[in-house]
Amino acid sequence: MEMSRRAAPTPPGASPSPPKKVPALAGTTATNNELMSLFECEECFDFVLPPIFQCQRGHLVCGSCRPKLTRCPICLSQLGSFRNLALEKVGDSLLFPCKYASSGCEETLRHTAKADHEDLCKFRPYPCPCPGTSCKWQGSLDTVTPHLMHHHETIITLEGEKVVFLATQINLPGAIDWVMLQSCFGFDFLLVLEKQENDDGHQQFFAIAQLIGTRKQAENFAYRFELNGDRRRLAWEATPRAIDEKIATAIGKRDCLVFNTSTAQLFAENDNLGINVTIFMC
Ligand SMILES: [Zn+2]
Ligand SMILES: [Zn+2]
Ligand SMILES: [Zn+2]
Ligand SMILES: [Zn+2]
Repeated sequence: MEMSRRAAPTPPGASPSPPKKVPALAGTTATNNELMSLFECEECFDFVLPPIFQCQRGHLVCGSCRPKLTRCPICLSQLGSFRNLALEKVGDSLLFPCKYASSGCEETLRHTAKADHEDLCKFRPYPCPCPGTSCKWQGSLDTVTPHLMHHHETIITLEGEKVVFLATQINLPGAIDWVMLQSCFGFDFLLVLEKQENDDGHQQFFAIAQLIGTRKQAENFAYRFELNGDRRRLAWEATPRAIDEKIATAIGKRDCLVFNTSTAQLFAENDNLGINVTIFMC
């Protein structure tokens, strides 16, 4: 959270300097930046974007703070539903910096486009996607694959649109994750096979692919998992999950390839299960 956007008071006569933490952004003017500094939430110091509500004395709080407050954080007067229409109009014409500006994003956006951009911003930090570990790492999209390769050394990478994801020793007891990376079309896909065991010893397998990329990028792809055995085949085709969509959530919803131990045995050879993986562009 940026906490220091408030500009230092300007001595009379001195020319006002742009507020700290808001660098003169490409495509914006000094006036844009000065006006932008007015759009500050009195509670969290983040931007106040239209619709703009104010207290009885004109102090502003942002849309995410307002539902949590009953009184103005500055003057303690009741927070009603007074809009500041003039400021909203000004806000409509300003360019605001991305939330991840301090991480390097140089985009400036209309407030209407800000949230959508931030969802997909390549400077947005993501947690480590590796399942079954307690890794606390997080970083920008570009650094996810290097992190997986350097800090989770057991994860191998196979190149190509068609690979075999080989899970060994599938009959080992307990919960296990098999994880690998598939690299194709200029992207990396995390392939995960997870075995869960419930209290009565019943085991289930879940297989899923996740793009190390945004949802928009994930929509361009489909993945196919295929178990091939003697006179049988089990297949699953879906859009890969994106980096911000947790694999655990998809598994919880059974939105992946699901099979039980007896099915696994039909396709396993010597305790090893090979999943044929194909990535398509759609
Ligand atoms: Zn706020
Ligand atoms: Zn107030
Ligand atoms: Zn951004
Ligand atoms: Zn990690």
